[in-house]
Amino acid sequence: MFPPPPGRQGRIFGKFFSKESGKRRLSDPFDMSRPDIAKALAAHFGHTSFRKPQREVVESVVSGRDTLAIMPTGGGKSLCYQLPAVVSDGVALVVSPLIALMKDQVDALSKKGIPAAMINSSQSWAEQKGAMDAMRSGALKLVYIAPERFRAQSFTRSLAGVKISLFAVDEAHCISQWGHDFRPDYMRLREALETLGRPPCAAFTATATPEVKGDIISQLDMRSPAVFVSGFARPNLSFNVTQVSGRAEKDAKTRELIAKFKTGIIYCSTRKSAEDVSKGLALDSIPHVLYHGGMTPAQRDEAQDEFVSGRADVAVATNAFGMGIDRPDIRFVCHHDLPGSVEAFYQEAGRAGRDGGPARCEMLFSYADKRVQDFFIEGANPRIAEIRAVYSAICAAAGSDGTASISIDDMADAANAAAGRKALSSMSAASAVSLLKKHGFIERLDAPSGPGRLTRLIGPALPPSHIVFPPGMLEEKRRRDEQKLKDLLRFAYSRGCRQEWILGYFGEADASPCGRCDRCASGRAEPAAPLSGEALEDVRKALSGIARMSFKTGRREWAPRFGRDRIAKSLCGSRDARILEAGLDRVSTYGILKERGKAYVGSLIDALLDAGLAEISDGEYPLLGITPKGVEVMLGGLVPSMDIPKPAGGGRVRARPAAGGSADAGEPEYPELYSRLVELRNAVRRARGNPPIYALFPNQVLKNLANLRPADAEEAMKIKGIGPQKAQTLLPPFLDEIRKFERENGLA
Ligand code: ADP
Ligand code: ZN
Repeated sequence: MFPPPPGRQGRIFGKFFSKESGKRRLSDPFDMSRPDIAKALAAHFGHTSFRKPQREVVESVVSGRDTLAIMPTGGGKSLCYQLPAVVSDGVALVVSPLIALMKDQVDALSKKGIPAAMINSSQSWAEQKGAMDAMRSGALKLVYIAPERFRAQSFTRSLAGVKISLFAVDEAHCISQWGHDFRPDYMRLREALETLGRPPCAAFTATATPEVKGDIISQLDMRSPAVFVSGFARPNLSFNVTQVSGRAEKDAKTRELIAKFKTGIIYCSTRKSAEDVSKGLALDSIPHVLYHGGMTPAQRDEAQDEFVSGRADVAVATNAFGMGIDRPDIRFVCHHDLPGSVEAFYQEAGRAGRDGGPARCEMLFSYADKRVQDFFIEGANPRIAEIRAVYSAICAAAGSDGTASISIDDMADAANAAAGRKALSSMSAASAVSLLKKHGFIERLDAPSGPGRLTRLIGPALPPSHIVFPPGMLEEKRRRDEQKLKDLLRFAYSRGCRQEWILGYFGEADASPCGRCDRCASGRAEPAAPLSGEALEDVRKALSGIARMSFKTGRREWAPRFGRDRIAKSLCGSRDARILEAGLDRVSTYGILKERGKAYVGSLIDALLDAGLAEISDGEYPLLGITPKGVEVMLGGLVPSMDIPKPAGGGRVRARPAAGGSADAGEPEYPELYSRLVELRNAVRRARGNPPIYALFPNQVLKNLANLRPADAEEAMKIKGIGPQKAQTLLPPFLDEIRKFERENGLA
């Protein structure tokens, strides 16, 4: 669906489809008849050099190839169509949605001596006709046109006979009906292009999400377009993802960030979470402002003002905080909770370091947070039956004039009462209302008095079954939201450079490791090499385990049944009750990675997820499954290139002794740990009045303990001589000692 990486396309300048001749021809990059665009840049725009990737974009556009350029705001997109317009025959049509900007652009061009005009609804008929006449006479190089002009077929037809050098679409993301800025008029541009005989088309946007890119290409029906994505790197930011187990760790981490970086934003995913964080900071007397959508506009303005003016240095906020912040010296942005998409993360994190100084972005990642996002997706994507129930509730509340005074909460209650169960949240009801509104079933009016708004039916009340949406629309929207969350999780689990990952996600092909993120800092961002030896074997073992613990549904198809925790435990040979109950000790892969230890197996699964060999299902319980690519690897048909975790204790995978079995554990691997355990045992023995050693832990058991370094009692019980009784009464201080040793020696 997506074209090959842009960096390469720009340079190769390969075969393209020439619109004029309708035949394939080869573009020659040394063709001297091509206008000298560098000279034109200086002559017409007064710039001495191109910014990246302006030259490549301009060359592509001038060559007549369909082109999509994605560059951040301020990156210099206008030049990418203005310069081609100046050096080409004919007039360039520029579709732009913002009338105010249109006027500025036309004025700026006129000042440069480039003949340009605009056509939009703010003008008188005479002005519009004047512009049309000038265009027809060939006097103009650029004409800016508002998208709604294309509503009338007659407008497009009136352009017949005009030589159009280029059809440029600015703010092209407006064509994606899933984006924030959808403008239905943009959907007509494809037809306009056809009617105009398909002049070369160039589209520009600052929205770099893969889905928007795909939408632009398909909605404008671009033919093998050259795609350029550039300029989204933030060289002064350091991106970090920290896995945390819960609230306490999050609190510690946020305080650390505040102490170290002073000025920053802590983003929370819900009002409740923001309030909790704020309370916690208040208890510790840490000055800050709180900002969320539940506050009154006046309260929010005040909070924003405090922060932007520098009177407060820390803001705790939901994503409602953002649009107006232009405080350049933000030194850290912390995502306290999981954001819903890579786009949201990057946009919010990107508020750090606007002054160009170094700044830190920190995402605290706790897998449990995913549930909040699942809940949001649920709320944002009501099902058709729910939407119809909300519509019925509005109908029931409507008076004879079709106007209902019913709150969203009451709509949800009424819908739930009708269904006889509590299925619909207020959030779903609100989403249903906005869908009904967007698709012309209802309108929302401000109530003449009192709080709340009125809802009015458009037309007579319909039977619920008449409430329909374009086929697949609701499903597609849900799928997209879910995919965004999945992508964010892939980012969290990714093992390479964070900046490089994000740029790759946006389609910037020539990114390289940043040297500043957590992955780069820990040296784990080298490019992945094809796996071999023990590493490859481990990957195959883990994949077989995931497959074994799934339902087999067909040739090479598996449906997940268990979460990652249970699968990891089974692979490690755990005796956990939940493993035994589920019979996961009887699958052939049980304990297959036992000697590697739990931490390693956990990270190995992360790596499989990151490499797309395994995936976490959606649904109420996240289940771990194998992907088709994972099946290929498992069956030996494919050798993946990927990073996998290094086993604890050094570069090489260390074979740990099979616990429980061997009579002689041999020499302990860490003699120091072993002797510390012996000392501890002797101290315990003295404290307990010198019972015989076999009543405690004999040396052999201590050697096994030192070698296995079990994570918990359950793992320790695999060692012969440690039963449930001793595990409870005797073991805990030994585990503590092991943990302490691991921490001191960087083995944790
Ligand atoms: P965008 O549309 O991508 O937000 P603009 O096209 O408005 O950005 O350009 C932003 C600014 O950068 C403008 O002031 C423009 O004059 C300037 N600019 C664009 N290209 C160059 C260049 N090659 N050299 C110097 N300045 C440039
Ligand atoms: Zn990096």
